[in-house]
Amino acid sequence: MSDEVALAQTAKAGGDTIFGKILRKEIPCEFLYEDEQCVAFKDVNPQAPVHILVIPRKPISQLSKSTDEDEAVLGHLLVAARKVAKQVGIDETGYRLVINDGKNGAQSVFHLHIHILGGRQMQWPPG
Ligand code: AMP
Repeated sequence: MSDEVALAQTAKAGGDTIFGKILRKEIPCEFLYEDEQCVAFKDVNPQAPVHILVIPRKPISQLSKSTDEDEAVLGHLLVAARKVAKQVGIDETGYRLVINDGKNGAQSVFHLHIHILGGRQMQWPPG
């Protein structure tokens, strides 16, 4: 079991998260991209040569807890991920977007985020 999967077994949904602290600049973090609705930064524990997280400024805990009112911000995150992938130069070779949801999805941080993974050949099926 990886550290992330182990962490996901006990991670609790709800409340403030490390990503909330990053958004409030309580933890230093270089943003590769930011706009009024989201920010993107490098994952601290990269699983690929390129591993970036795109997170909404709105503290949605996880995809399954989002609502129909979040349609615009959810769409915005995908558009931002596309822009970031192009910005870092992995759009021609391809990349993978991942959203882990809940315990079985191995989610460890309960602030919605899209993983952008690239810079190497991805395999299928995922673990
Ligand atoms: P997930 O397992 O989908 O919840 O992913 C959470 C991700 O957040 C993991 O890939 C962690 O490596 C990453 N992470 C945790 N803390 C930080 C941090 N301070 N800065 C950047 N990435 C982080």
